[in-house]
Amino acid sequence: PRFRRALPPVRQRPFLRVSGTGNTMVLSFDDGPDPRYTPAILSTLRQYGVRAMFFVCGEMAVHHPDLLREMADDGHVVGNHSWSHPLIPKLPPSRIRAELGKTSDVIERTLGSAPLWYRAPYGAWNRLSFEIGAELGMEPLAWTVDTLDWKEPGTATIVDRVLTGAAPGVVVLSHDAGGDRSQTVRALRAYLPRLLDEGYHLTVPRR
Ligand SMILES: [Zn+2]
Repeated sequence: PRFRRALPPVRQRPFLRVSGTGNTMVLSFDDGPDPRYTPAILSTLRQYGVRAMFFVCGEMAVHHPDLLREMADDGHVVGNHSWSHPLIPKLPPSRIRAELGKTSDVIERTLGSAPLWYRAPYGAWNRLSFEIGAELGMEPLAWTVDTLDWKEPGTATIVDRVLTGAAPGVVVLSHDAGGDRSQTVRALRAYLPRLLDEGYHLTVPRR
């Protein structure tokens, strides 16, 4: 039989931040991968030797396995963000199971191991999503600082939101797909070196 790690407990709410020692922060990118933006984000992270989390949608991941492998090869965490980005609490149990299960399957087929983290689209969780997530071996992770980059507020505003929100344990939410994400790409190039200068250790949670 294949090795399976113990299933996590059924949570009642998602994690909003990460615990760790020192000035640890987590950068996370949702909704991808998108070949228009994800490669630039990966390249910037690689330039600074920084690891991040990518919560991918199954319907995107299935078309871009090469980008998934690139994420994993660089040490990033690939998490489950559902198949088609629905509002989970509006779905019947069978659809929630399919949305999360099919996405975990694609990640496992591509990378050789199933994801250990998931994030509900729109941050809309319900009890069933916690139960099904745990059954699939995943912990729920939300975020602390929302850059609202999908509203395209301008690169400077995104940079400002990250630097203002920076603190130990903070999880930053951005998006590498779902629209024009060139501001997200440019903002990362600006705030990443500044966070590092300020002494933040940008990494991924341990599980
Ligand atoms: Zn999303």
